[in-house]
Order: sequence, then structure tokens, then C-alpha cells
Amino acid sequence: MPSFDELRQILGRIDGRSYNAYHEIRGAFTLRSFTLFVDHVQGDPYAAPSKLRLRIDQDFAELPEELYDNPVRCLAFEDFLTRRVHRAICRDERSRAERRGSGKSGLVLVDVGGQEVLKRTATVLTPAWVEVRLEVGLPANGRRILGREAEQLLCNQLLAIAETSLVRPPVDEARHFVNCIENQEAIRNRLPSLGLIAFVGDGSRLPRESGASDQPLAGESAVAFEAPESLRVKIDLLHPIEIGGSVCRSIEGLGVGKGVTLIVGGGYHGKSTLLDAIERAVYPHIPGDGREWVISDRGLVKIRAEDGRRVEAVDIDAFIRNLPQGRSTTAFQSDDASGSTSQAASLVEALEAGASGLLLDEDTSATNFMVRDARMQALIQKEHEPITPFVERVRELHEALSVSTVLVMGGCGDYFDTADTVIALRDFLPLDVTEEARAIAANTSSSRQKEAVNPLGEIARRIPVRGSIDASRGRRQVSIRASSLDRIQFGRSEIDLRGVEQLVDRSQTRAIAAAIHFAAACFIDGDRTLCDVLDELDELFDNRGLDELDPFYRAGRHPGNYARPRRFEIAAAINRLRSLRMRQCEKRDS
Ligand code: ADP
Ligand code: MG
Repeated sequence: MPSFDELRQILGRIDGRSYNAYHEIRGAFTLRSFTLFVDHVQGDPYAAPSKLRLRIDQDFAELPEELYDNPVRCLAFEDFLTRRVHRAICRDERSRAERRGSGKSGLVLVDVGGQEVLKRTATVLTPAWVEVRLEVGLPANGRRILGREAEQLLCNQLLAIAETSLVRPPVDEARHFVNCIENQEAIRNRLPSLGLIAFVGDGSRLPRESGASDQPLAGESAVAFEAPESLRVKIDLLHPIEIGGSVCRSIEGLGVGKGVTLIVGGGYHGKSTLLDAIERAVYPHIPGDGREWVISDRGLVKIRAEDGRRVEAVDIDAFIRNLPQGRSTTAFQSDDASGSTSQAASLVEALEAGASGLLLDEDTSATNFMVRDARMQALIQKEHEPITPFVERVRELHEALSVSTVLVMGGCGDYFDTADTVIALRDFLPLDVTEEARAIAANTSSSRQKEAVNPLGEIARRIPVRGSIDASRGRRQVSIRASSLDRIQFGRSEIDLRGVEQLVDRSQTRAIAAAIHFAAACFIDGDRTLCDVLDELDELFDNRGLDELDPFYRAGRHPGNYARPRRFEIAAAINRLRSLRMRQCEKRDS
């Protein structure tokens, strides 16, 4: 393999030449235990930056194997290292406050995560080496190569960044991080056997800095979480942790049980903040986030109203039937769903994908989907109201389908009759008001009539129709792009994911976009159901990781920046694709 000396020579030779000459540095170069792979060279200094990988032999990096000896620890340690690389890049950038050159010249990027810890392609650990995948702006002045700057960047700065972040990192700090993530995953695995769908540890700090930031709210004003005695559970930890100077082998907090949990309380008392934390706790969080001891079942799915979304052949009959103009509700289709029909469709789609629990907030729900009180029942007779509100189905979901619900509902007491547990938030602290709510329900009838006529049946499986997912656009066979966290440009159509609240990382969005195309090419065959396709993708991710997702991927190359999405968010994106056509399978029980 060519050495770094050769790289220096090439850069010296092409100094001052036109940008195209950078193609000469494609390939791999070594220096002692380092190998630099230049996989892709950008077309000009303004284009997307070049893709490079930097690999360090373990003989030199000396990363302790115990920190990555199982999949969870490996995920955590890789994430820890990516964050170190990111910090080193930021420090380096500050030290050379001014980047020299045009466009993206001198830019160095690594795909680092936010508060959640996700499996990503940014860093890879093996017993033989550690590799970080970077994006680098090759320096130029206009279109003229700045060879000296390039040499300084590739041969000195990158190595320094990698060396300070990846070689012999502080083991105690690394172990703390890895153990914290493994603790969370161990608790998550145990939730079902404890009869829980979520856990909120005492001392958690749930509020965020602002509506636009996922950072913890700093300072005195954040009220630490404290579970009410009657709902407090104690869970053993895999690794002991230190709290306030003493070593703890277990952690206490609120156990959110299977069944129906209602979160009530006055406006601005922290209801939605608690639900948000539970929503995001399907992923592990970094130590210090304030939500690292909030842990949810992986199968919880947030359901909200999203008028205007597309819906394709979804059986929403359990919630909505007898629509005007005889529109089908057993295979409901709409290019512009209403608040209630969109929420019903999202709910049924989540069940189809295998959700174990549903999360709903009054703030983002359609009122008529949630409730229909006695007075409204008297005014608008059932035959003129297509909707069977969620209040009639929430218990059935649990009893017939073992699907739990956590529901924020400060404005309507009709749900008291349905709840196993009622938690009130007062001044941001939870109280157990289950008994009171029961007594009120027993003494003050809601006077509403039961309206559900048909029992909640099996969820209809749907088969995506081949050819209805097409990534081509104009002359390009494949044109897919995650333009932001919640927007995918897929071929000629745009997928709007603003209503998919548990998508937390743009690299997940990128992965979803690529996964849809991958699935269309490999799994969607007119026989497999959507659920089968999601199973195939999960298996692919489990066994082969995310490296192969890019449609133009070639083995041993920079794979692009991806983070693993859940099956629910992949399904949500497929379901919102406007060109999608689905065929329903016959139900087994009918
Ligand atoms: P609700 O849904 O009950 O109306 P929110 O959850 O939206 O209330 O919270 C209202 C405000 O209070 C938000 O700005 C939120 O950041 C803040 N908040 C929530 N929980 C806490 C807490 N534990 N400590 C301090 N502020 C909080
Ligand atoms: Mg709210």
C-alpha cells in the first residue's frame, strides 16, 4: 500500500492545478498504524465534501476489548468514540479559526449523534482496528488546488484528530458511558417481565432547554422527577452506579404498567414533557442527558392526528365507518386524510407493524377521535357520526390485542372508566390519583352511551404492490435524499415525516430513505406483507449492519452516514409515500 510520503508527493505535484487533479489521491495510504482511505473525491470545493475513512490498528489504539465484547457494548463504545472524534474536530476547528480556501475547503465532519445513542455507520470497531468515517472538504482557491493546505489537513490534522480521540481514550470515562448504556438496555429488556411498558427513574430531569433544543434544561428551575410511593418500583442494575457519592445496585422510579395509563393535571404542569420523555426513551440516552433513566419498551409508538397525510388501503373500520358518499373504511384510501381519519390510520398502521403500546397526547390528537360526550351523543345521533372514539377502544386494545396505552388527557374525564392507572402531574411532580378517579367515575356517571358495535378484530395485513415504490426521477434511476430530519425526497415524490415524532436523527431519515429503496428492490415482491418486509429489513440490520444501504455502495468504501431507524418509522415513511399502492390480505378469522 502507498505510504503517506506518496500522498505528500502527489499533493505537492497537483498543487495549483485544477480541482479534477484531486482524483489522483483516491486510494489508501499508510503511516505506521494509520491507514487513510480516500474513497470519494468531491467534484469541486462547493460540492458535498469528499468521503474519507481513517483506520487505526488496535496494536496502537489499544481499545480495551471488554468495552465492545457484545453488541450493546459495541454500539455504546462506538458512539462514545464518535463523540470524541467530534469534539476533537471542534477543538481543531477553533484552533484554526479561519479555514483557508473556497467553499467547503478544510471542513471536517463526522456524523455524531444527539442525546440518543443509535447504531450508526460513523465509527466501526473490530478486534483488529478502529475506523472512523469522515467527510472532508479538500482545500482549493476557486477551482485551484491548495496542495500545501491539503497536505497539512490530510497528513497532519486528521491524524492528530484521530490520535487524540481514538488512541488509548480514558478508560474510566469510556466504561462509565458503556455501562450506562448497557444498564439502560438491560432494564429495557426486563420491562415486559416486570409487567411494565416504561420506567421513569427518580431524579430524572425531563424538561428541555427550549422547544427547539433537545438539551436538558439547566439550572434550578428543572424539577427532578420523583415517583409516587404507590407506583414506585425498584429495578436491579447490571452495573452498579454512583449516586451522590454512594454506590447503588438498583434504581427506583415510576413503573408505567401494561394496560391503560392516563396522565392528567392542569395545563402547564408537565404532562406532555413526561410523555415526550417516554416517547424518546425507546432509545438509550447519553449519561448526563437527564433522561438516561427513562426507559421505554422498544415497541411504543406515538400516534397523532396529521390531516393532509396520505393513507392507503387501511382498515379503520373499528374507529370510523359509514363515511359520507359510501367511502370504504375497511380499505380506507385518501390523499388528504382528516384529523380523525389520519389518527385512526396511523394507529392501525402502528398495530400492523407490531407496536406493543401506543402513546397519545391531547395536544396532538383530533378531539372527535378521542371523545364524544353525552350531550353530543344526544344532538348528533350515532347514525350520523362515523367515528367510534378511542375512549371506546382503549380497553379493548389492551384486553384483546395486549396493546397498552399511555394517554395525556387533561381536558376530559370520560377516560376515568377505562384507566388502570391515573397519574396526575402537579407542579411537575407525579401523584397517583387512581383511587380518586375511580371513585369519581363510580359516583358521577359520564352518561355517555356505548357506541362501538363491532368488536376490534385482527389487524388486516397489507401487501405493498410492486412498482408502486419508484426512486427514479428524470434521467436518474435512483434519486433519494433526506433533505431534513422530517423530509425525504423519494424519486418524484416527497415524504413528509413531520407527524412522525419518534424519528430523532437525520441519519435515521437517510437510512429510512435508502431502506425503502432497498426493500423495493429486494423484498417487495407482491407476496410479502409490509410486516414481512419490515422483518427482512430488521434482519438485514441485525446481521449486516447499515453499511450496505446506499444504492451505490461498494464493499470496502465509505458507506455514507446512517443511523438505525426502528421498523415503525420505516413503516411510517412507506405509508406516507404518495405513490404507494397496497393490497389487503384476507383476514384469517373471517
Ligand atoms: P402540559 O402538557 O401539562 O400543559 P408541558 O409538559 O407542556 O405541560 O410543560 C409546560 C412547561 O413546563 C414546558 O415549558 C416544560 O419545559 C416545563 N416543564 C415540564 N416539566 C418540568 C420540570 N420537571 N421542571 C421544570 N419545568 C418543566
Ligand atoms: Mg400538553
